[in-house]
Amino acid sequence: MIELRGISRDFQVGEQTVHALDDVDLLVGAGEYLAVMGPSGSGKSTLLNILGLLDKPTRGSYLLDGRNTTELDADGQARVRGEKVGFVFQTFHLITRLSALENVELPMVIAGRAPEERRARARALLADVGLAERMEHRPDQLSGGQRQRVAIARAMVMSPSLLLADEPTGNLDSVSGQDVLAALEALNARGLTLIVVTHDPQIAGRARRRLMMHDGRVVEDVRR
Ligand code: ADP
Ligand code: MG
Repeated sequence: MIELRGISRDFQVGEQTVHALDDVDLLVGAGEYLAVMGPSGSGKSTLLNILGLLDKPTRGSYLLDGRNTTELDADGQARVRGEKVGFVFQTFHLITRLSALENVELPMVIAGRAPEERRARARALLADVGLAERMEHRPDQLSGGQRQRVAIARAMVMSPSLLLADEPTGNLDSVSGQDVLAALEALNARGLTLIVVTHDPQIAGRARRRLMMHDGRVVEDVRR
């Protein structure tokens, strides 16, 4: 589903060029479960942002389901992103004034879906992540683990085939982290492609494939 060829991403900071990604090749099949590890600054988030079409590489090509995304304009990229990709961030990125239900519905509101349809879908997804009893709560009335599960439900609302999570348990205690991980893995078990950036050795130990990054390169790619 994912094919990266010679992907580099340079950032210009004053006089200096930072090589955040340096000639990365990567193939990921549909339904895989990958952990991406490596020290801070090694390019993990940059890789995830490019995979999710939130950022463009400086060089190289990225084929997603056979389509060369690097040839798309910004609107084309946004469309593909909306159809295929869900994101989960370390800091949840929920809207504080909206309930859990409204947060999950939001992408469908933006996509112009009918109220009944989006409400039913959001309810089902929140129930899936164990939050049937918390749908009317606002983020500040939920624990960190619950917030992250709302974010997972929201990421799933447009039925993506690829879920990208950047340190999803990084702000959570280990018990909440377990719940979040279980929710992500349940989705992968149903066929979703799951790529998780993590420092958590527990996640890395459970993923079926582990990439190690260093200085913008993939230095290790291990399957179990
Ligand atoms: P990681 O997620 O592994 O900690 P990042 O992908 O965030 O690493 O960053 C890789 C490198 O690229 C770092 O040196 C970082 O400082 C640099 N970098 C990332 N984003 C930007 C940006 N928007 N502008 C300039 N430099 C950046
Ligand atoms: Mg990062």
